Amino acid sequence: MFIKNIGRLVTMVPSKGREGLLGVIKNAFIEIKEGKIKRFGENFLIPPNPPLEKGGEGGFLDARGCVVIPGLIDCHTHLVHAGDRSDEFALRARGASYEDIAKAGGGIMSTVKATRAAGEDELLKLAAERAKEALSYGLTTIEVKSGYGLDLETEIKILRVVKKLGPLTKQDFIPTFLGAHAIPKDKERRKYIQEIIEEMLPAVAKEKLAVFCDVFVENIAFSAREAEQILKAAKGHGMGLKIHADQLSSNGGAALAAKLNAVSADHLENVTGEDIAAMAKKKVTAVLIPSSTFFVGGRYADARGMIKSGINVAISTDYNPGTSPILNIWLAANMAVTQLHMTMEEVYKGITVNAARAISIDATHGTVETGKHADLVLLNCKSESEPVYRPDKSFVDKVIKNGEVIYEKS
Ligand SMILES: [Zn+2]
Repeated sequence: MFIKNIGRLVTMVPSKGREGLLGVIKNAFIEIKEGKIKRFGENFLIPPNPPLEKGGEGGFLDARGCVVIPGLIDCHTHLVHAGDRSDEFALRARGASYEDIAKAGGGIMSTVKATRAAGEDELLKLAAERAKEALSYGLTTIEVKSGYGLDLETEIKILRVVKKLGPLTKQDFIPTFLGAHAIPKDKERRKYIQEIIEEMLPAVAKEKLAVFCDVFVENIAFSAREAEQILKAAKGHGMGLKIHADQLSSNGGAALAAKLNAVSADHLENVTGEDIAAMAKKKVTAVLIPSSTFFVGGRYADARGMIKSGINVAISTDYNPGTSPILNIWLAANMAVTQLHMTMEEVYKGITVNAARAISIDATHGTVETGKHADLVLLNCKSESEPVYRPDKSFVDKVIKNGEVIYEKS
């Protein structure tokens, strides 16, 4: 496939002859072969009669001046669940506290209850609908966590659903086991941790259902010591490590991520300067989630401090029914500018190449480079700043995954 007449090709690789830190090539083309980027550059480099055009067959796409960016990556979501929490949201709006809501059977356990009760087909249908919605924003790769089962059967069910999503929507889904999301109400703490280590992790590993293992390190969930036990066991099964770290309080999550060489530490609203330094030293990617602070309140993560320390910062929606029911990555990108004070260039890195780093696929995804997967988004606008500036308006014209158009605006 040849894509010609690209108004601005955002490569994410700055170099001589390209514009700015995003490495923009104006009036560009891309040639794709076998799902990978074969060649790209300025329009005048296209041979006068590309073979595909001669044949008159498909495979020749006129971008009509669109901005083209790498396929977007959401590196932290909880996409698979049943039920929603709009009722709780209404209770909150009337002044109910989280405690009140939890006492009334709400909160995470209400989602666990609904997800346990749902069949695999129903969960798949719900998740595929959300994935397609995410696709309309230009998301070609999505990390998806389990964690609304909190028992062996349901955690496995969720991860099997993640595996089935790819063939349905043609996006890539990176599965993460998050059995350590909360302590289920019906189980004793130590017994549950034992169950995660001795039953869940081996079962997930045996079926190859997860690339990563994640733990929610927080006063209301797991301590850093407990997380270390779980994550070491996961490492033994060959999984990469992630941590929900220092979200509501400073509790050693980021320090543990550095100690265990985790791929990413996520949230970090309350991380200490010392722990930022430790993360920087170990090259742990920070996944920041402004939409969760926006939705539930509290402090925003110190993106500027992290960037200054040399940490790679990714931006994610953390889509989940409780604290961030938001699939629109552009909205998260807008908040990264307005609330985290990141530059446009930093935000674009956050939803492309650094998001790829957060799920260890940066060697093959996240930039426009020869040999990388041809995951691309065509944006019907004049500059790449526009969709971040106006996150409520849909600029996505087409989405290409591995060289194939998988979404077209109707
Ligand atoms: Zn999360």
